Amino acid sequence: MDMSNNSCEPSASTHPPPPPQVAVAAPAPAPLSRYESQKRRDWNTFGQYLKNQRPPVSLSQCNCNHVLEFLRYLDQFGKTKVHLHGCVFFGQPDPPAPCTCPLKQAWGSLDALIGRLRAAYEEHGGSPETNPFGNGAIRVYLREVKECQAKARGIPYKKKKKKRKINNQLKGHDELIKNNQHQHQHQQQQQQQPA
Ligand SMILES: [Zn+2]
Repeated sequence: MDMSNNSCEPSASTHPPPPPQVAVAAPAPAPLSRYESQKRRDWNTFGQYLKNQRPPVSLSQCNCNHVLEFLRYLDQFGKTKVHLHGCVFFGQPDPPAPCTCPLKQAWGSLDALIGRLRAAYEEHGGSPETNPFGNGAIRVYLREVKECQAKARGIPYKKKKKKRKINNQLKGHDELIKNNQHQHQHQQQQQQQPA
C-alpha cells in the first residue's frame, strides 16, 4: 500500500495552505498625501519648538504669542530676500545684484503653515475656540508680513482668480469694440441709405 498521499503525514500539516488567489490585494495603509505628511512634519516641529522653550511649554499652555514667536523664529531658515527700506533694490522684484538684506520666510509659506498647524491642533484634540493658530493676532501678523513683503519685493500677492477676471475684462473689452464697430457700420449703412 502506498502511504505517501496520507493526509495524516506530519510534514503536510506543517505547511500552511497557500493563500487564496484573489484579484484584489489586501488593503495596505494608504500613503500620506503631500499635505498630510507636511502637516505631520510641521506639527512635530512646533511640538519640538515648545519643548525647547525654557521652561518648556505644554500644548494646553500654548497661546497665540507662542505661535507668533515660532513664526519669527522660522525666519532664520527663510530663503526669501526681503529688502529693507534703505536698500536700493527696495520694491524691485528682480534686483540685478545681491544685497545684504535679510532672508525671511515668504508670506505664502507662513500662511500655508498656519493653515496646516491650525488643522493639526484640532486633530490632536484641541478645541476650535481656543485654537491659537486661529487667533486674530495671527491673522493680523500674516497680513502685515504680506503687505511688507509685497512692498519690499515689488511683488503684489494676487489670487489666481484675478488673472481670469482680467481675461474676462479683456474679452469683454474686445466684444465692446466689436459691438462699437458693428454699431458704427450700422450707422454708416443708415447714412448711406438715400434720404
Ligand atoms: Zn536689499
